[in-house]
Amino acid sequence: MTEQLIISISGMRGIVGENLTDSIAADYGRAFGTFLKDGKTSAMEKLSVCVGRDSRPSGQMLKSAVTDGLCSVGIDVIDLEVVTTPGVSIMVRELGCSGGVVITASHNPAQYNGIKLLLGNGIAPLPDSAEKIRQYFFDKRFPFVDAVNYGRVTCNEQTDTIHIVKVLAIVDKEAIAAKKFSVVLDSVNGAGGRVTKKMLSKIGCAVSAMNDEPSGLFAHNPEPTAESLKDLCEKVRAYGADIGFGQDPDADRLAIVDENGKCLGEEYTLALAATYIFSKKTGKAATNLSTSRMIDDIAAKAGGKVIRTAVGEVNVAAAMLENDCIIGGEGNGGVIDLRVGPVRDSLVGIALVLQLMVETGKTISQLVSEIAGYYMIKDKFAADKSQAERIIDSAKKVFADAEINTTDGCRFDFKDGWLHLRASNTEPVMRVIVEAKNQSIARRYIDAVLGIRGQILG
Ligand code: MG
Repeated sequence: MTEQLIISISGMRGIVGENLTDSIAADYGRAFGTFLKDGKTSAMEKLSVCVGRDSRPSGQMLKSAVTDGLCSVGIDVIDLEVVTTPGVSIMVRELGCSGGVVITASHNPAQYNGIKLLLGNGIAPLPDSAEKIRQYFFDKRFPFVDAVNYGRVTCNEQTDTIHIVKVLAIVDKEAIAAKKFSVVLDSVNGAGGRVTKKMLSKIGCAVSAMNDEPSGLFAHNPEPTAESLKDLCEKVRAYGADIGFGQDPDADRLAIVDENGKCLGEEYTLALAATYIFSKKTGKAATNLSTSRMIDDIAAKAGGKVIRTAVGEVNVAAAMLENDCIIGGEGNGGVIDLRVGPVRDSLVGIALVLQLMVETGKTISQLVSEIAGYYMIKDKFAADKSQAERIIDSAKKVFADAEINTTDGCRFDFKDGWLHLRASNTEPVMRVIVEAKNQSIARRYIDAVLGIRGQILG
């Protein structure tokens, strides 16, 4: 059996040509348009939506279909073409649109694509709104308009320019430029290459870019993990660069490679960005239950506090807006700074980390050595929602002594570490994240989970 089309709070994600087709995409556009029309404050109000896409070859087809769907219910569309996910979020607010659509499957392999929705505040719909949109999609009772009231399509090519201005406003451009950093950038032939190269050259960096063609033909697994970024590490070493940056295809996630060519692991991206922010001021940060304790240590040192949310960018972004957080994000390399926008943004991560290097005069490896490290293992295995539930139930018995948090899946807190088990929102897999003071403790927890899996799934 083929995989199911997934419709979650992150939007729609499926396999192109199998379960994600132009007619599905058009209906999803109509469903989103119907939802937006429902929230209209007056009958006269003309609604508009920004639509952008990452570089996947199927993106053009899905973008056209979603655009047709939106127009057919009377929504105007502003076509941003190939742009990053944070870029779309910025343009939604910049242009005063009612919503945004990003055609992307983020870090998922090439056969996937997806449709991510944003509301007028630049963040994804919260669960109750996401459920309404899902219902509109299945009900298919769309408020089609007549020919005169059909939505109109215009193009806007300003996304990169506006994005760069907003990101560079939160750092000292001249101070970074004076350092003439040597940077290697791997954009995996996604949407991030063009805008990121432009930004880096504006702040005086000598950029060696690899996989910077927005062809959507991913040069390696598009998830920015150490395994995927071996060539980037190699180039950083070969060029004697100060730092390497790896992006996912829609450029909301960032992985960092130190000056020795060592991939730090995505958890360090938020930790380093938070180190800079908390060196300047104190306040609240927000992150999800699966993210490293490093940010708690960094915030605590500055007298700050960390709010923990369910996994899903929208949950973190909503908590940040509600609590006026000074930094936030996720352990997958997603950094959010509300001064730029309420969405994970690899450009924000890059700018904050370079600023940290400038102000401390330290190398990335020195900065990392000053952050109390933990040992983390992220694992996943195939499991549908009901199998995932059975595994969690069994784990609750095995780890009966742990402190338990069931906000999202189940997080088990032990004296010497923590373990988070949850079913993914976007793939039929169970995610297992464990963090402990050292590798052998972390391994022990992972092995226990794999043992439970073996018993449940055979
Ligand atoms: Mg992404």
